[in-house]
Amino acid sequence: IKKKASKYEKQAQAVKQTAVLGAGIMGGGIAYQSASKGTPIVMKDIKADAIELGLKEARKLFAKQVERGKLTSAEMAEKLSNIRPTLSYGDFGHVDLVVEAVVENPKVKDAVLTEVEGQVGEETILASNTSTISIDRLAQNLKRPHNFCGMHFFNPVHRMPLVEVIRGEKTSDAAVAATVAYARAMGKTPIVVNDCPGFLVNRVLFPYFGGFSFLVEQGADFQKVDKVMEKFGWPMGPAYLLDVVGMDTAVHANEVMAEGFPERMARDTKTAIEVMYDNDRLGQKNAKGFYAYE
Ligand code: NAD
Repeated sequence: IKKKASKYEKQAQAVKQTAVLGAGIMGGGIAYQSASKGTPIVMKDIKADAIELGLKEARKLFAKQVERGKLTSAEMAEKLSNIRPTLSYGDFGHVDLVVEAVVENPKVKDAVLTEVEGQVGEETILASNTSTISIDRLAQNLKRPHNFCGMHFFNPVHRMPLVEVIRGEKTSDAAVAATVAYARAMGKTPIVVNDCPGFLVNRVLFPYFGGFSFLVEQGADFQKVDKVMEKFGWPMGPAYLLDVVGMDTAVHANEVMAEGFPERMARDTKTAIEVMYDNDRLGQKNAKGFYAYE
């Protein structure tokens, strides 16, 4: 952990208008959380059905709060109206901060970040929600790397308190400060961490997934492993967690970790997680992973 997040907060510019690129598991969750805490957010994807899914998820979460008496229907409508769904960059001219949450692929992220940099103002902060890809690596093609940092949320966004704010070599104090302030405004607990593949949390989590995968390859029953880890006191076991994360995201993230830490993370045979991915068992996102979903 590089420096206390609070050090930066004192210098923060207010983040009033935001945007998120990608309306998937994470982008949809980020839009919901921002809207719920009152910061308007433009939600852009390249697929109309992804936007629909992102909105549906947000509606479901708000509706639960109405059911529990925590929100009135009018408040729900007002909060929902903070999310502006779009397939174009039309609304990006006035945003203070953009969170990039597209697929975990460095080439796709490079293309998307370069594209969005051309659509926003000179002062706009770009923050990537990448799970593993180095911020300095993603900053390479940007014209304003000082305005770029990592803003790593965890899944599901509305329930997980932590946000890693990743400071790259060229990231300015102002960019870190604004990102920390936005995380706090979203009701999250930001920590400022150094840049490296996997940052802090995933440097712990992915070796754990690797250990779980190895057990399964040796014949362990994944359901039993999950039950044991629950008894150990964790809220869910590794198989269920992988279903939540998504096998595609986990495989891509592990590739980045293996490249960064070959001696610890690289394997010369396929992992159980890669076999699941090859068989289109992506997890909850396509209703079949280690477990089957409705
Ligand atoms: P996802 O597959 O659910 O969603 C990705 C979305 O990005 C899709 O809707 C896709 O249509 C969209 N997209 C692709 N290209 C785009 C473009 N050019 N412009 C706009 N949208 C585009 O993936 P996800 O699980 O939400 O992951 C997104 C990012 O968040 C990844 O970098 C991932 O590593 C990171 N992340 C994921 C988790 C997790 O548990 N799933 C946790 C933390 C961080």
